[in-house]
Amino acid sequence: MNSIDILVIGHLERNEDGSVICEETWSTSTLIRTGDHNIVVDTSSGFMKPAIKTSLKQIGKVFPEDVDILILTHGHSDHIGNNGMFKKAKVYIHKDEECDVPDAVRIDKETEIAKGVCIVPTPGHSPGSVSVFVDADRHYAIVGDAIPLKDNYTKNVPPKLNVDPGQAMESMKKIVAFADVIVPGHDQPFIAH
Ligand SMILES: [Zn+2]
Repeated sequence: MNSIDILVIGHLERNEDGSVICEETWSTSTLIRTGDHNIVVDTSSGFMKPAIKTSLKQIGKVFPEDVDILILTHGHSDHIGNNGMFKKAKVYIHKDEECDVPDAVRIDKETEIAKGVCIVPTPGHSPGSVSVFVDADRHYAIVGDAIPLKDNYTKNVPPKLNVDPGQAMESMKKIVAFADVIVPGHDQPFIAH
């Protein structure tokens, strides 16, 4: 059975004018174990490297070089800061993300990456934002900034930073239709429904 561990819980800090304080903002990073694969979704901000290392140590038996798949929900710097830790991983990112990720596989549609682990396009925050839908003890959706904060879900509002609010709302609907548990980009995981 697939299992999920959160390596880092994301956080978001804003100035009074609403702009994001980069030094105090980082994304969630998540480990999925399928038995055959160790998959990491997002690698947070560069300064969270010690936290990711500590989490892997606490989980035990999983070293960075054991991670064979890295999925990036999108290309913003607070989600890709520690890609370099996972040197043996095949990297997946949507083709519409503008950032330069060397040797990444560019996907353009829903893709089952391992049994019960599916990359699902959920655009709106950025043109190529994706989520990862996982069948485990429940249905988990690891969503990056398609839903950055629990507030976006409870108030039913799109991410403040978006390229297309209508598309972002459609993506949120798709996520909510699948998920029992939502792992947001910058907040604690929470139960949906
Ligand atoms: Zn973002």
